[in-house]
Amino acid sequence: MARSGRARCAVPFCRRTAAEADGFRDQEFLCGAHWRLRPPGLRAEWREHNRKLRRDLVPHWRHPPGSPARLAGVELYREHQDLWARTRATCIEIAMG
Ligand SMILES: [Zn+2]
Repeated sequence: MARSGRARCAVPFCRRTAAEADGFRDQEFLCGAHWRLRPPGLRAEWREHNRKLRRDLVPHWRHPPGSPARLAGVELYREHQDLWARTRATCIEIAMG
């Protein structure tokens, strides 16, 4: 476990941490230096994803089940999970060389 209240960067042996009070979970984020390792393709995907996020600020579970807004929200949530998983794996790979 991390020191109490501090979450560690997802890259193994990276010593940077962030406050769990700010919503960071242990090894579920990349520190600034490692976040910047994203190749251009992933940067573009995040730009596009964040654009969609800004359009839909209501969490998907707030929409009625089965409604178009709910389905779109679920889709966006899945996209986020997938994009994060690929970003994490890619940045770890680059960082570990
Ligand atoms: Zn890091």
